This record gives sequence, structure tokens and C-alpha cells, in this order.
Amino acid sequence: MAKKAGSTKNKDDLIVIAGAGGFIAGALTRYFHDKGFTRIRAIDKKPLPDWYQRVESVECLSMDLSEKDNCIRACEDAQEVYNLAADMGGMGFIERFRVMCLRSILINTHMIEAAYRAGARRYFFSSSACAYNTLLQQDPNVRALKESDAYPAMAERGYGWEKLLSEMFCQEYWAERGLRTAIARFHNVYGPNGTWDGGREKAPAAICRKVIEAKESGNHEIVIWGDGTQTRSFMYIDDCVKGIDMIMHCDDLTATPINLGSSELVSINTLVSMVEEIGGVRLKRSYDPDAPKGVAGRNSDNTFIKKVLKWEPSLPLKEGLKRTYKWIAAQYADRKAGKHTVRDQI
Ligand code: NAD
Repeated sequence: MAKKAGSTKNKDDLIVIAGAGGFIAGALTRYFHDKGFTRIRAIDKKPLPDWYQRVESVECLSMDLSEKDNCIRACEDAQEVYNLAADMGGMGFIERFRVMCLRSILINTHMIEAAYRAGARRYFFSSSACAYNTLLQQDPNVRALKESDAYPAMAERGYGWEKLLSEMFCQEYWAERGLRTAIARFHNVYGPNGTWDGGREKAPAAICRKVIEAKESGNHEIVIWGDGTQTRSFMYIDDCVKGIDMIMHCDDLTATPINLGSSELVSINTLVSMVEEIGGVRLKRSYDPDAPKGVAGRNSDNTFIKKVLKWEPSLPLKEGLKRTYKWIAAQYADRKAGKHTVRDQI
């Protein structure tokens, strides 16, 4: 019988969140703060003014967590450590910058050791659907990926292999040293306060921005990467942070990789149509077959998460896209007016 998720922590436990200047860890910081946790230490290598969200009364540190000494400082007195720091982005980024993606191995390697030495009770690692065997993802009409599909291993080059190896660290720290670890394989997360420009953005944000740009400029055209038939599922950020909390605090999931994603599969063409509808515009489509497009199809099989947590991410894509579009449109207007906006450069 699964232990009730979220039942094992105290409101004054020190929670350490790595990567908190970015999208998901920024939202996770906000989530724990809003739940009444009083001691949160948020860390990112970005300078503080560049963080996507700065949450009031949270200790915010700008440190490079690929350095061992910084990880020791980051984990001091920690009860729970959430590692979401990684050099990552959409397909355009992870296909071009494999070395940067692979070097994130340093972050998890030092963070998990530091967490263990600090006596942390729980350690979370943000893995990815890119850890799955790519040979199973060559058809847009994919069979959804279940947790056992990561092996035999043929992960996404660079980024996916780093995730797979870091997962193994988490499994062995539990097996050999008794550090309770949690591993979630995220499937495309989107929502407000995420990267929407600059080269690291993912498909939902990029398409919202392109539709907004087309409306603004009056040039009603859109370039789609690949042929638009590639399929994906997209999880709204609120579902993601809730899932992280539940997975981290479910003892039955210790050191067990689990999908955290939506099972609503759509093609990129459909995604564009949804955003066009929200924006109230129809654009002339052209396709760039040479642009990075990733695997042909990928979906999350949620059988396991439903069984263990009696829950799965459920916000419909259309609703999540409406909220995201609105936020990006406001960012776009702010940037035009010369105000500070969320921006990440490669
Ligand atoms: P993000 O780029 O918005 O956030 C990651 C943050 O990590 C960035 O702010 C970055 O500055 C920070 N970082 C990178 N290297 C660092 C270092 N050496 N020291 C300290 N901080 C460092 O990305 P995100 O979308 O919020 O992703 C968070 C985690 O979830 C990552 O591990 C990512 O691989 C994983 N993930 C995300 C998605 C998704 O769809 N967004 C999908 C699968 C997995």
C-alpha cells in the first residue's frame, strides 16, 4: 500500500532547490513557499536579477553547482534536496550543445554526494523522457513510453545519456548508502515563467511567440520545424510541481524512475492550430525539414503513476496553452516597452 504522498515533511525543514532561477525549479520554490514552508534555499548559477522568479523570504544564492565546494555549501543542513539544475533547452539546443548537456553530470554528481554528506533525508532528481530508447520513438503514432522502455539503453545523445547516468547515481546512492532518492522523468513541461525566446525555448512557448510575432508584424506566416507531424505530450507547470512533491514523498517510489507527463498526445501541427485559435489568427505554414525536430513521436504511459499515486497530470493542453499564451503576450508587450522580461541566452 503506497504511503500517503506528501505526508513526511515538516514546515520548518530546510528545503534546497537547485536550478531555481529557471522555469520548473522557480515554480517549485513558489509552490513550497505558498504551502507555508519557512526555510527554503534556492540556488542557480545565473546572477540574481536574471532569475525568472524571485520568491519573497527565500534564501537565494547565485552559485555554480558544477563545483563541488558550492554543492557542499548549498546542501548545508538540508533535509530535502531537489536537483533541477541542468544546462538544457528545446530540441534546437540539445541537438547542438551536447557537451554542455553532458557536463550537467557534474551538478548531480556533486549535489548527491553533498546531500548525502549533509545527512539529507530525501533527494530529488529531474530526469527526462529523453532518457528513453530513441529506437522506440521513430513513428508519430507511438506507443506511449513506459518506465521499463529506458533499457536496453539508446537514449537521446548527450542530454538523454546524462539523465540516464544520473538516474543510476540516484539508484546506487539508495542501494549502497541509504540516501532516499526520487527520480521523475518529465515529459515536455510548459507554462508561464518559462523560457520563451533566445534559443532554449520549447515548442509550446516558441509557437505562442511566433503567433504573437506574426500578429504584431502583420506578416501572417509561421515556420514549423520538421514536417509538423511529429507528436508529443505537454504537461502544465502546476501539474509538474504537484507531481514532484508527490513523487518525492512516496516511499514506494524510492530510487524508482517514474514518468511525470501528460498523456494527451498531439502533433506539432495540432499544437499550432490550438495556438492560432487562442490568438484568433490563421497563419500560412511553411516547413523547415532541416531544423532540429527530435524523435518522430513521444508520449507518456501513465499506468504506473496512476497505480502508485492514484493521480496523473490532467490540465487539458488547450487550457494550459491559453494561460501560457496570455503570459507570453504580456512579456512580449513588456519587452517592446523596454521593461525587464524573462530571457535566457544560449
Ligand atoms: P531551465 O533552463 O529553465 O532551468 C534550469 C536552471 O538550471 C537554469 O536556470 C540554469 O541557469 C540552472 N543551471 C544550469 N547549470 C547550472 C549550474 N552549473 N549551477 C547552478 N545552476 C545551473 O530548465 P527547466 O525547464 O526548468 O528544467 C529543469 C529540470 O527539468 C532540468 O533538469 C531539465 O533537464 C528537466 N526537464 C525539463 C523538461 C521541460 O520540458 N522543461 C523536460 C524534461 C526534463
